[in-house]
Formats: sequence, C-alpha cells, structure tokens
Amino acid sequence: MTFVALSSRRQFLSDASRFSALYALAGALPLPAFAKSLSDDPRVSQTPIADAGYASVRKIGDGLYATISDTSKGFATICNGGFLVGKDAGLLLEGFGTPRGAGFQMDSFLKATQVPAVGALLSHYHFDHSLGSSFYGANGIQLWAHSSVSKRIMENYVAMQGVDRAAVLAPLEKRVQTAKNDAVRQHAQSDLAATGNVFDLVNKTSLAFPNRPLDPSKLPLNVDLGHFPIVIEHYPGHSGTDLIIRVPDQKVVYTGDLVFNRAYPACFDDQCTMSGWRNTLKTFSSWDKDTLFVPGHGPVCGQDGIQNLRDLFDDLGLQAEKMHKAGVPVSDAVDQYVIPDKFKSFAVFAWGFCIAGAISKLYAEIGAK
Ligand SMILES: [Zn+2]
Repeated sequence: MTFVALSSRRQFLSDASRFSALYALAGALPLPAFAKSLSDDPRVSQTPIADAGYASVRKIGDGLYATISDTSKGFATICNGGFLVGKDAGLLLEGFGTPRGAGFQMDSFLKATQVPAVGALLSHYHFDHSLGSSFYGANGIQLWAHSSVSKRIMENYVAMQGVDRAAVLAPLEKRVQTAKNDAVRQHAQSDLAATGNVFDLVNKTSLAFPNRPLDPSKLPLNVDLGHFPIVIEHYPGHSGTDLIIRVPDQKVVYTGDLVFNRAYPACFDDQCTMSGWRNTLKTFSSWDKDTLFVPGHGPVCGQDGIQNLRDLFDDLGLQAEKMHKAGVPVSDAVDQYVIPDKFKSFAVFAWGFCIAGAISKLYAEIGAK
C-alpha cells in the first residue's frame, strides 16, 4: 500500500510539473473536432476504440485507425498518429511527445488486433513526434524513419540535454525585454514559452534512434501487411525528413506535419522549404476528391483541409511579397504579418516557430529569385 501511495504521489508531482511547464501549449495547438468536421464521412467512426482525454483512437477505414490529440486535456501525445492493421501484421505511426503517449497508442493497437507490429514509423524527427520513441525500443518494436532522423535528433535534442536551461533561454528573454512594442513582445513571449516547453520535454526523456533508416532515394517503399497495399513516400516541405503513409485502395493518407489542419504550419526548421511545401500540397490536392487525410495536428480532414492550408500559404506568400516590395526589412516583416479574419480561429503554436519562420523563409526565396 505504501508503495502505491508513494508512486501515485510521484506520478502526480511529475504530471503537475509537466502541466505547468506546458501550459502555453494548450491554447496554441488545434483541438480535434472529429464529430463536427467529418460527421458525413462514413469511414470515420464516431465512437473511439480508446480515449485517454489527451488523445483518442478511432477507426477511419478497413484496418485503419487515427490517433488524434487533444492538448487541452494533457500532453502525453501532442501530435496525431495512428496505426494500420493487415491480416499478418500492423504498422504504428509516430513516437509522440512522451513514452506514455506511445504506450497509449500501443494499448489501443492491442485492443484492435492480435497481429504483431512490424514497426513504428516516425513521420519526421521533431520532438512532438519522436520523444516517446524509447517506448518502442523497450518493447522490441523496430523504429522506422527517414535516414536523416538520427542525425537531426542528435543535432537538435541531444545537444539540448544537460545544458543550462537559463543559458538556452537567455537570448529569447532578451528579445522579450527589448521588444519595441506589445505585438513584438507577445510574439517573443510565445517563442520563449514554446522553447522552454521543448527544453523540458527533451530533458525528461531518454532519446531513442531509428533502427530502420529509410533512404529517401529508395522510396517509395511498398509495405505488405497482408491485406491492402501501403506506400511510404517522402515529400519536401516541413522538416527535410518528412514521410507519409498512403493507402491508395482506401484513399487514406497519414501526412505527418506536411498537413496542419486548422492551424498555422510550423516553418522554423532549417530544412523547411516554402516552395517545396507548396508543391507538396499541390500534389496532395491532385489526389482523389474523397481522400481522407490524417494531419500531424488538428482533426482529420478531406480535400477542404488541404485547400485551407494552401490558401494560408498563399496569404503568407502575398503578405511577404508586399512587405518585401515596400522595403520592410526581414527583421520587422516577421512581426508585421497580419492574421486575416479567415484564419483567426487557427491555432498558432508559437509566433516564431510558425509565422516568423514562414516570412523569413519567404523573404529568402524572393531574394533568391
Ligand atoms: Zn513537425
């Protein structure tokens, strides 16, 4: 009894600190709206097979499941994922923000099927998709990802472990203190909060590395789970390491962060390319009109979700071009983008990660023309 009391107190303390550190994420990520957005799509089950609050799992096709996060209820998963179940084997998608999140999805998988999992695929290396991967390592499940993911995790997250938190955040704190107006200060504050959250998540986690690297030059990869054909493909745009899973027979696509639904796209990555990403979305638009997309963040969507995101990229592009033409320096332009009414309800994870990243990359692309 003593042990139970102690461990539940510890669990409480660790949850409490996790929640206070992550408070800023709650309002900054899109909430799921399954019932509203896809009530007329018969492929999406209205009743989840598992619901942990912070994420729920629903059937979205024959042997296809989507794990959709609700960050207003906790941060074990943060991103969306899912799994595919054939007659012989299953494939899991995403390592999520914590091992607990990956464990929740594994429990749901075991509820749905008795076939073994051949692997868990990371859609890309970012923290909210990869920090829970040690769960798979500990359970003998092969971790699949783009062949650059290990290197990117080393450069970005191993480098963040064991270093002084205050030193990492100091330049961001300086930006808050020296902000020349309220808007700039708010943007700097959202970047400071987000970076602090990432730092804390990374330092609470034992990092795991993919043991089945997928060389993009050898993709697409056809995977046979003993039922329907599955294809893993690489597209440019969000992180330079982005993979998607396509199930052509059922017109279902798991996109990772190449699609943000009802949210501003995160454009901070060194290898994020605006023109590349816009081309990728153009390709997604060319697929069947009944295609169902499981985005990296936000509710499951159809082609309307892709169109919304393309419109958003167009708006970012137009505003960047206008400011560039007017001679606004990039250092000011990143704060001067105005969110149009049409996108006011869209979530912004952090100004710098999303909007400033997009504007500075658009400026670089205009300058390179
Ligand atoms: Zn990402």
